[in-house]
Amino acid sequence: MPIYEYKCPNCGRFELKQNIKDDSLSHCPTCSAPVQRLIGKNVGIIFKGPGFYVNDSRSDSSDSSAS
Ligand SMILES: [Zn+2]
Repeated sequence: MPIYEYKCPNCGRFELKQNIKDDSLSHCPTCSAPVQRLIGKNVGIIFKGPGFYVNDSRSDSSDSSAS
């Protein structure tokens, strides 16, 4: 479960563990002030580039290599 970091104008920064399917927090649970979600280091989601693709140079399926 990822930890999101929020910034409250009254309470400062705090972290909240949320399900990824939950809506992002819009108000501080402590003082009900509108909070801003920080996209930061604690979000453990890394988007990798298209560095992994299947190198299908081996044409085993199409080529009939029957012995
Ligand atoms: Zn607050």
